[in-house]
Amino acid sequence: MRRCVVHLVYILDTVRLVRSVGVDIGGASVRAARLSPGNRLEARASAPVGSGMSSERLLAEIIAVTTRVLVPGRPSERRIGVAIPAFLGQDRRVHYSLNLPGLEGIKLEDELTRALGGPSVTVMPDIAAAALAEAGAGAGSGHRRVLCAALGTGANAALIVDGKLVETAHGALGDAGHVLTEPGGPECVCGGRGCLEAIAGGAALRREAHALGLADGAALSAAASAGNSTAAAVLEHAGTALGRAIAIWSAMTFPDVVVVAGGVAQAGQLLLEPARRELVRVGARHVVERLALMPATLGADAAVIGAALSGSDVAY
Ligand SMILES: [Zn+2]
Repeated sequence: MRRCVVHLVYILDTVRLVRSVGVDIGGASVRAARLSPGNRLEARASAPVGSGMSSERLLAEIIAVTTRVLVPGRPSERRIGVAIPAFLGQDRRVHYSLNLPGLEGIKLEDELTRALGGPSVTVMPDIAAAALAEAGAGAGSGHRRVLCAALGTGANAALIVDGKLVETAHGALGDAGHVLTEPGGPECVCGGRGCLEAIAGGAALRREAHALGLADGAALSAAASAGNSTAAAVLEHAGTALGRAIAIWSAMTFPDVVVVAGGVAQAGQLLLEPARRELVRVGARHVVERLALMPATLGADAAVIGAALSGSDVAY
């Protein structure tokens, strides 16, 4: 975890001029990290949060954790970025916060800017923060157009071009995890059928694991690695769906590289190999022939790093 932040610090060593704080609000905890003007990791803090918390309680926890990593009395030097497990509406209010319903409807940027006394707070969906991190300091470093697909509990994707997030809707690429990858496929939480999320999202894979008597997605990957052909077939199915989704996204966004992040990506080549195979089989040739597909490198730190990057005012 620390190594990832140190890596980021090294990359930005010559350009960062201000303190930058990243905050990652997850479904179970809120985490904050601060980088110094000299590009050193100065502080980290975290606290548990939960779905039963009221808006007031959640805001208080977020403010308390963030305050613990701010340097008192230096508001003009602060840049703060915040990653949320939700989307943003056009009015910049939090939308669709399934894990933390207490956040819904809040204009978090205004609330936090007021409470923390800094010049600006930038809020973005966690998929956007993860994509910024992987493009700026992770697997996509050095590429101009980076598409980051994340398979966490659900599925989504975000596009970074020249270090900037591309927004189409909801603070990212809309609800990209709900592209159709299998006509007539399994029902999805969105009300549709055959979406990427319904086949390759973490919740979908956990259900498949349970059906095989396994505890979770990690156990599913372990069983597949150990030669369990049924478990391997589940991951092959998920990877195939991912390859189709990448073919669709890529035809619209022309990335140079696709980085696959999120807990499901821990399955590694068991997921990426069928994804690559299907991408080549069904994708437009002029799109996929130049496209690299690789696993994310920043792990669980991606969102907090990306939030810190978004809060900075330097090019990277
Ligand atoms: Zn769906």
